[in-house]
Amino acid sequence: MKLSKLFTKTIKNPPADETAKNAKLLIQAGYIHKEMAGVYAYLPLGLRVVEKIKNIVREEMNAIDGQELIMTNLQPKDLWETTSRWDDEVVDVWFKTKLKDDSEVGLAWSHEEPIMRMAEKYISSYKDLPASVYQFQTKLRNELRAKSGIMRGREFLMKDMYSMHASAEDLDEYYEKVKVAYQKIYQRLGIGDDTYVTFASGGAFTKFSHEFQTICEAGEDVLYVNREQNIAVNEEVLEEAIKEFGIKRDQLEKVKSAEVGNIFNFGADKSETMDISFTDQDGSSKPIHLASYGIGITRVMGVLAEKLADEKGIVWPENVAPYRVVICALGDEPEVTKQADELYDKLVSSKVEVLYDDRDLRPGQKFSDADLLGIPYRLVVSKKNLDSGKIEIKKRTETEPKILDIDDILEVLVA
Ligand code: ATP
Ligand code: MG
Repeated sequence: MKLSKLFTKTIKNPPADETAKNAKLLIQAGYIHKEMAGVYAYLPLGLRVVEKIKNIVREEMNAIDGQELIMTNLQPKDLWETTSRWDDEVVDVWFKTKLKDDSEVGLAWSHEEPIMRMAEKYISSYKDLPASVYQFQTKLRNELRAKSGIMRGREFLMKDMYSMHASAEDLDEYYEKVKVAYQKIYQRLGIGDDTYVTFASGGAFTKFSHEFQTICEAGEDVLYVNREQNIAVNEEVLEEAIKEFGIKRDQLEKVKSAEVGNIFNFGADKSETMDISFTDQDGSSKPIHLASYGIGITRVMGVLAEKLADEKGIVWPENVAPYRVVICALGDEPEVTKQADELYDKLVSSKVEVLYDDRDLRPGQKFSDADLLGIPYRLVVSKKNLDSGKIEIKKRTETEPKILDIDDILEVLVA
């Protein structure tokens, strides 16, 4: 992609109406557009990041036999009445509206009830279990506060997976598999070392549920962690967890964190409330055991922008960066342009995702945009290096560039 053709442009100053660093940076760099508080559009660069995150999550969900589908945003009132969750006193984030015939519908803030209603159609026998389905879907929630940029949206992208089982034991086994898959995901996203499986307030049949919390100053949660023992507890259940696990309070460090994922065991609760059952091997009718597993795709993007940034801008991990490399052509001498054009073509044909700053701008402006955008590698084509047949390469995370032959550059970039 040539920067001269990119739909968006970087903005000189951060937006004044945002307090969250992630939103300031992402808007300034042209990744997102704020429609209103908590509601953001994902622009061409931003969408590439979203898709990269989704693909990592998708690969790991498929690896544990998850099957992808897409559910609906419009939800019928009667479905949610079966579990009393249509009531605004019970669920305080509903957006509700009416059809032309005056019947009420809600905009999906979760898909737990809909998936069970759907499962009823396909799961009648023990032979149909276990089953695991997931989606990437826009959730709509009327959040009270939306001051954390894309880390708390009123409209946001979630991956939600639901697994259904014939027994509690079968569910437990799968639940552990998902935990491992989640750890792989956060590792691949570049935040594995700072993301903790955290004890949080309970599931329907378990004392604790599990959150995946990433240490982050701008997060809205408070954790107590022991890094050596790899234990983390959400502040909300601290006393209970201390009692349960015999942890010592003074061995726990208090940190701010962001919930990047949540897994939840419903047991047979949902199925019983909704009166959904299957026929087991012995012919008896039994409830389906359900667990749900969420990941906040756009929240993760916000956490990455927020947490890994430096004073110059965003620093994307290589796995989620919208492009792997940016070429800055300095000056407008024909031989510089020619070499930069050739380099661009070569990288494109080698399937390296490359941005080409071919704009008529001063070197300083190109460098500061490359830093703000957070592209992992910067290549500089200039008259100076051209004479020696070399190209300058610098990693976004390093300060010193290297001067290399073009073949060596390709070796670094063609992974
Ligand atoms: P929170 O406590 O942060 O409101 P939650 O408990 O409501 O989260 P879930 O309903 O379990 O979250 O949703 C699954 C995941 O979706 C969360 O772990 C989080 O990563 C993400 N998420 C939840 N609410 C939002 C939001 N308003 N904006 C962006 N991501 C969100
Ligand atoms: Mg919430």
